[in-house]
Amino acid sequence: MSDERMTANCLVDGDTFFLDEGMYLSELSTTMRNRVKNDYPKAKVTDFICNRHLLKYRLANVDAMINADLKQSQKINRKLTRALQSDDYEITDVNESLSNSLTTGQKVSDAVAHFGGSWGFIFIFAMVLLTWMLVNGLQVLGIHFDPYPYILLNLCLSCISALQAPIIMMSQNRSADRDRMDAENDYHVNQKSEHELRILHAKLDHLTQNQIPHTLEIERMQIEILGEIRGELNELRDRQEKMAERGSEK
Ligand SMILES: [Zn+2]
Repeated sequence: MSDERMTANCLVDGDTFFLDEGMYLSELSTTMRNRVKNDYPKAKVTDFICNRHLLKYRLANVDAMINADLKQSQKINRKLTRALQSDDYEITDVNESLSNSLTTGQKVSDAVAHFGGSWGFIFIFAMVLLTWMLVNGLQVLGIHFDPYPYILLNLCLSCISALQAPIIMMSQNRSADRDRMDAENDYHVNQKSEHELRILHAKLDHLTQNQIPHTLEIERMQIEILGEIRGELNELRDRQEKMAERGSEK
């Protein structure tokens, strides 16, 4: 009944098959063809291989793809874990390390600079000046140790401002130290984030460039195999119908 259909010989065992029971090497993907050629170096693209023998190469192909993907993912994951665990620097607690290293002099200079830069200081200072001038200028209490134009007051003010300037500078140096430590912390954190980001990029690239195409290829193979199964089913049904017709003729 189907003698007139085209046949071909399987390159593995030389058995004869119908064309829909296998594939020519030219119909296979390059990787699959190379796999077959690996085992049968003499195979040409015009050679035929039956589905049963092809299955072995298909499974090997899928296995190789899955293994390669797994290995690559594991490699990237290991890298990411290492990067996340690496503690080759530590974030310094700026407040703590600064307050621990404070000397008494620095504490005093901080307090003085803090008080010197407040409204309270201005009010108190203005009151002192006013009192001094009233006492000496109007002789309110009957004493005048520093008469107009208040030369002693002038001397006191000069001394205070001469001392205040270096104290404020000391305090400013310490705030510069704090800024430097902050910047150092930021730098380390940025560096680590960038490293992690790069690994994440590699992971994403691997996913889109390898794993998804591989999944699609495996799906394509499944569809091929499904098609073959449907073809075989159709053939079986045809045969059954013909046998039934023959049976009813008799
Ligand atoms: Zn075969």
